[in-house]
Amino acid sequence: MELLARVMKKEGVSPGRAAGEDIDLFVPQSMLLAMEESNRAVPRLIYLSARETARRNAYMIVRKLGMPPDYFWKFELWTQERAFTTLGKIVQRIFSTIMSEAKEGKLEVRELSLDPLRISVDFDNCVECAGLRGFPHGICYYHAGTFTGIIAALINRDNLDCYEAGCIASGGERCSFVLGDKSSRDIAREFEAYLEPPAMKVDLVNRLTRSLKKDSVRSLGNMVNVNYLRLVTANVLRDNPRLFALTGAEVGRHFGQNVAGTVRGFYGVEKWQALKSYYSNLCRLEVDVRGGDAELQITVGKTVLAAENSAEMTAFLAGELQGLASGLTGQAMALKESRFEDNNLVVTLVPEP
Ligand SMILES: [Zn+2]
Repeated sequence: MELLARVMKKEGVSPGRAAGEDIDLFVPQSMLLAMEESNRAVPRLIYLSARETARRNAYMIVRKLGMPPDYFWKFELWTQERAFTTLGKIVQRIFSTIMSEAKEGKLEVRELSLDPLRISVDFDNCVECAGLRGFPHGICYYHAGTFTGIIAALINRDNLDCYEAGCIASGGERCSFVLGDKSSRDIAREFEAYLEPPAMKVDLVNRLTRSLKKDSVRSLGNMVNVNYLRLVTANVLRDNPRLFALTGAEVGRHFGQNVAGTVRGFYGVEKWQALKSYYSNLCRLEVDVRGGDAELQITVGKTVLAAENSAEMTAFLAGELQGLASGLTGQAMALKESRFEDNNLVVTLVPEP
């Protein structure tokens, strides 16, 4: 709720950071994608937690917009035309409040039929899939869950589900979501297929290269409001802290190892300087490396993404540092300790025996 309020107010993250300061999408995207790649239950977890949070927050948003909470009472009795126009307008307004303010995409209800209930929503410039290509299916589980949760709360129906019929990641021009009654057979079938995609292989190195070169991967630019991303990741992690704490370190390590060569090659400087530049340019994190061959101590100053989710978020970050250090030194490093010291994350690595 607090993050959502900050997104809506365009507030800055913390003292010392400008209001609405931008951050590259690569970091949160790759974290979620790496999780999805490693664990097939993750798409469903993301979808369900986004849906529930959106449902809970919908009333607060509606109140903030000055709408009566029972506005959609008797939605079922409305004519198709009235339902389409009114719902379309309100949904647009709600999402532009949450998202445009955070430089998010453009949303439009394209089709609506009442019986059986089916709502098609087009969404441009989605941050979840921006710059990603080559997937055989849609990957915007957070937004699918969020749209479902808000629309379900508005029209007071808890039997809705949603799948993505088209996505930037699968070669579309925009993301298109279809919401409908869970009990309807084609919705149920498409929904299940959507949440259980075939095993994915994500080319995050290619995505990273584009981010490093500051290629414009979305028409709004590469950047998006920090608070919006924190909202997305906090949302996903909060409901599943154990899972992410357990798998985060391992997934992060793989990921760090995969991108180490690209990071080194791109900056073409001394290895620890490359590591510092990577975190500073892409994550706005200040990283300091001390120690030598026997023991390395990496300090990450005031981790933006970790503020609300320390244990879970830093499991991935500590793993990523471990993987990067291993890749950069050419020596497999083990994680000896990861702890907080005055808001700074201190990760200690030693060579693997
Ligand atoms: Zn998408």
